Amino acid sequence: ATPTALMVGTGRSAKMGILIKNGEVLEAVNDVTTVVFDKTGTITVGQPAVTDIIGDATQVLTVAAGLEEASEHPLATAIMTKAKTDEITVPAASDFKAIEGKGVEASVDGQTAFVGNDKLLADYQISADLKQRAQQLQDEAKTVVYVGLSAQVIGLIAIQDAPKPTSKEAIAALKSRGLKTVMLTGDNQRVARAIADQVGIDDVIADVLPGDKADHIKTLQQDGKVAFVGDGINDAPALTTADVGIAMGSGTDIAIESGGIVLVKNDLRDVDRALALSKKTFNRIK
Ligand code: ADP
Ligand code: MG
Repeated sequence: ATPTALMVGTGRSAKMGILIKNGEVLEAVNDVTTVVFDKTGTITVGQPAVTDIIGDATQVLTVAAGLEEASEHPLATAIMTKAKTDEITVPAASDFKAIEGKGVEASVDGQTAFVGNDKLLADYQISADLKQRAQQLQDEAKTVVYVGLSAQVIGLIAIQDAPKPTSKEAIAALKSRGLKTVMLTGDNQRVARAIADQVGIDDVIADVLPGDKADHIKTLQQDGKVAFVGDGINDAPALTTADVGIAMGSGTDIAIESGGIVLVKNDLRDVDRALALSKKTFNRIK
């Protein structure tokens, strides 16, 4: 092996904003058959915004804002931004509890309140009407969170996060290379499928709890080598488990540390470029 070829390859890629951490990555890239993507911040822009509120909008938003003020989740940021725009007075909340992959519970103005998905709501009644409205919104690629107060579901908030403008082209390039594409997300199946359809992703694995992402990678590895592309704290185990971990440069520190390749420009088209470049470099070394 000639270390020079490796240096040249990684040097050129670095100029393109593709950081390749070591030679092992290059070797694994040659045999990748499946590319798996996180959704939020990887395929989508990662700046969710509130689009619809069902129920008494002021009440729903007020309760949700009280709950989300202490949360750092991107959905919480979207809700707080909307509350600010609508000049909502955020109520005091206590006993805040974040429930991973599900939502948030707290005491708002002395009453038990919650905001989150249907996994959180397993014990509560959602009217058929609200459920149907939720499904419509999810089919429009909007993430739905229900808002509850004193054991009653009082409404829902729909939040949209658009795909990055280059995601579709990026997926098409990988597919034309014969690679299988998969989305792996904590979001709801309907929303995930709607976004996958917008960008052309083959398969969707949705409703995945943060701790389970790495296990899904292991399952996919039974069919061949897997590259995983992600940005979040909850993506770190999947990035390390995958044969090739690709982190977004805009991602959390732990994701960047866990990736063997880092895409500085956050452009998904760089996944294909990274694969192409690694192949070229690897063949030169051989
Ligand atoms: P991902 O990063 O893949 O989108 P998460 O595991 O962070 O997934 O979240 C999965 C789901 O859990 C969200 O789509 C939402 O329904 C719910 N959820 C998590 N945190 C919150 C929160 N702070 N407020 C409302 N819903 C939340
Ligand atoms: Mg993400």
